[in-house]
Amino acid sequence: MRSSNYSILGFLLVTLGLSILVKSDSVFYSYKYGFNVDMNEYKWVFGLLLVALGIGFIWTSWGHDPSEEYNETEAFICLQCRVPICRRDVPDLKCKDCGRDLEPVKGFYDRHPELKEDD
Ligand SMILES: [Zn+2]
Repeated sequence: MRSSNYSILGFLLVTLGLSILVKSDSVFYSYKYGFNVDMNEYKWVFGLLLVALGIGFIWTSWGHDPSEEYNETEAFICLQCRVPICRRDVPDLKCKDCGRDLEPVKGFYDRHPELKEDD
């Protein structure tokens, strides 16, 4: 859920940034009480900043979450096929070939010493 929230926030920021960039009005913010701020010379700065920030959020939501990095790169192996595979390639932890549950490579031969091959 958190990843998709980042994605939505990023999309909104990019949209807001682009809307600022394409806006042709010389006065962007018109406050009530007769106080206007000329945003024209700053709109590129604000617009590009928002777009960059939004892309950053989207980038973060697409597989660059540091909290998941460790698990993503953890290697798993199928007891049947004995093919090691990266966790990020098998989100359900089922073997792509035979459908069995995958086990972490770490400690695999400690749990299955009978499978240890002597070279
Ligand atoms: Zn398998």
